[in-house]
Amino acid sequence: MVRFTVLASGSKGNSTVISGGRTRILVDAGLSCRELSRRMRLAGEDPATLDAIVITHEHQDHVNGLAVTARKLGIPVYFTEATHRAWMRWLTPRRQMSYAQWLELCRKQAAERQAEAETSTEGSDPAETDPEETEADSQPQVAEATAQADTAPELASAGPPSLRDDPTWLPAVEYFQAGQPFAIGDIDLSPFTIPHDAADPVGFVFSAQGVRMGFATDLGYIPPNVKAQFQALDLLLLESNHDLEMLRDGPYPWSVKQRVLSRVGHLSNDAVAEFLSNGYDGQAAYVILAHLSENNNLPELARVAAESALLGRASLLANRLLLAAQHEPLSAINF
Ligand SMILES: [Zn+2]
Ligand SMILES: [Zn+2]
Repeated sequence: MVRFTVLASGSKGNSTVISGGRTRILVDAGLSCRELSRRMRLAGEDPATLDAIVITHEHQDHVNGLAVTARKLGIPVYFTEATHRAWMRWLTPRRQMSYAQWLELCRKQAAERQAEAETSTEGSDPAETDPEETEADSQPQVAEATAQADTAPELASAGPPSLRDDPTWLPAVEYFQAGQPFAIGDIDLSPFTIPHDAADPVGFVFSAQGVRMGFATDLGYIPPNVKAQFQALDLLLLESNHDLEMLRDGPYPWSVKQRVLSRVGHLSNDAVAEFLSNGYDGQAAYVILAHLSENNNLPELARVAAESALLGRASLLANRLLLAAQHEPLSAINF
């Protein structure tokens, strides 16, 4: 059986569960681990049966619960390498420092090294002494003691570091590349590049047991490579982020409006309608509109735009239109 369940969709968190054969994957982990588990149970899925997490890009609404969820379930995370690096940078931001601060830091580090060197020469017999114990026993300065306490659990135990010690630690990381299909158990994934302001954002065609599911949110426009992928689908999930007029007249500052409207921003209802009218083969049984903006869109506007584009193609068997929501899961779609 193949099952597709959107748990949440929108700028406050994105997550979808795809089951195929014996495999179950989570696409994006934008909800907290607790909320993710709650919604999975609501949708009739057991979080403990997830086999892997796949990440489309590193924006917060797609990775918010990633580290905690992957750790708790002990499952691998699939990224592109650039997305993984960007995610790690996001979790370990570096402070900007002035030249004077940098000089001061160098001076302190040199003094610490000097102090360390002196302590070790003072030690009784290096062969019999664990250098860490020596430092802990010899009442070093408070700063050193704190540094020691911070690293000690990591060195002492074989288990994973705590979130505080290393927020980027994951049970396992697997890399994939756009344009290179791969499989996770019984599910085949075909990742492709999408135009969005992230390090290396991707969309997917997932397929399992002959069912093809197209998946793309967070893209400024639909380029030819995406159109080429989105053919002969059984299910199409596509971002329908904003209504152009609502965005233009809405509350966002002009710079944010420009970002959303740009070629690396988000898809408008009109852009979706244009694709559904002219670029789409009309074959999918389900069309799901996703990542709707809560400020710059209304579900009815997104629905009407897509419906009129699909007019004439609607049949009992194809193009059933659904809207993914932010605050509650969409009913599971079974094939
Ligand atoms: Zn997003
Ligand atoms: Zn994004």
